[in-house]
Amino acid sequence: MDALRHAVESRRDDLIRLTQELVRIPTLNPPGLNYREICDYLEGRLAPRGWACEFVRAHGAPGDSDTYPRWNLVARHKGPRPGECVHFNSHHDVVEVGHGWTRDPFGGELDEGRIYGRGTCDMKGGLAASIIAAEAFIATRPDYAGSIEISATADEESGGYGGVAYLAQQGAFAHVGHVIIPEPLHKDRICLGHRGVWWAEIETHGRIAHGSMPFLGDSAIRHMGAVLEEIETRLYPALMARRTAAPVIPEGARNSTLNINSIHGGQPEQPADFTGLPAPCVADRCRIVIDRRFLMEEELSEVKAEITTLLERVRAARPGFSYEIRDLFEVIPSMTEKSAPVVRSTAAAIERVLGIEAAYVVSPGTYDQKHIDRIGKLQNCIAYGPGILDLAHQPDEWVGVQDMLDSARVMALVLDDILMGQDPSLTRPPA
Ligand SMILES: [Zn+2]
Repeated sequence: MDALRHAVESRRDDLIRLTQELVRIPTLNPPGLNYREICDYLEGRLAPRGWACEFVRAHGAPGDSDTYPRWNLVARHKGPRPGECVHFNSHHDVVEVGHGWTRDPFGGELDEGRIYGRGTCDMKGGLAASIIAAEAFIATRPDYAGSIEISATADEESGGYGGVAYLAQQGAFAHVGHVIIPEPLHKDRICLGHRGVWWAEIETHGRIAHGSMPFLGDSAIRHMGAVLEEIETRLYPALMARRTAAPVIPEGARNSTLNINSIHGGQPEQPADFTGLPAPCVADRCRIVIDRRFLMEEELSEVKAEITTLLERVRAARPGFSYEIRDLFEVIPSMTEKSAPVVRSTAAAIERVLGIEAAYVVSPGTYDQKHIDRIGKLQNCIAYGPGILDLAHQPDEWVGVQDMLDSARVMALVLDDILMGQDPSLTRPPA
């Protein structure tokens, strides 16, 4: 065990450099920049060390074009004996930089044990930790049984359709036994799954007229106001009363939640450099986009019916009220059993490395586990990786070097536990 620990810890400088170099490739999504570049970089790292690397472009996936091709990399290392396959999946895309940075977002600056930059925490630090863990394990246990895979995939931040979903549709998980997604859930926590999502656009209708004679028209904005009032006074209290038994973090996400992502009514907004005044019109259209996150205990059909019932209530109370509702996106909750093999291995490894019991959590938002579960039909999947979830998508995002090293040790121990067993051909009865 000391050999494995030493193999990880002696790679500290390598881990830092690897993380920095990944962060310096700005894989911004949208639109999906430098996906090929980061896959090439990873191939350059892994192929000379004995990994078979496969480039997969998600042809025809949302967002895929010749200008912004959706490239994924799957790297595979085989031990000399037959056995199971452990797969580490990291998304390589990062979200926009946003405002408020005091560090270079793509500099990968190292300062007092932290590496700063967009994607350090979510989740290039986790990707780097899994690579170091695998390399340290292979160097220490060259005779291991089975195989290790590392995938770097596109578009997790925009639904994963050009990434894990595409790979799963191609059968990339058919031979995989265990999946760890090194999302930043923290080094002592195992994330078993996530809540469900439903996005929808609601539009209210009105009739355009001159703004000086609004009584000749019908304001779609006032109709939407009535919808918002109903959401405020009846829906929010109902959601606050609904709590899951699952260990969702943070605490507030144990309730059902609803966010109104956007509202648009009347004339489109003009560019910032437009110096004219708006024209007086009654708004004939108003739209909101809702983001409803639901619990394992809720059914998607009930979640949708609750909104339709609300809209029908408004219709019954308001003359002239009409609306449309359009589904944009939906994901069923996903949850791996605590008794699943990858959960038990990871929990034991956390206890050995950190000397504390692993905590079990469920994520408020979804991540690529949904595709591995629904399309790949593999329920032996968790998110486990370094970094503090709250820092994801924030300015001055960072990941701690010690956290990366500790979680790399945990990942290496999981490999040791799963892949250093007996030759399965000796222990399993012949088929
Ligand atoms: Zn992420």
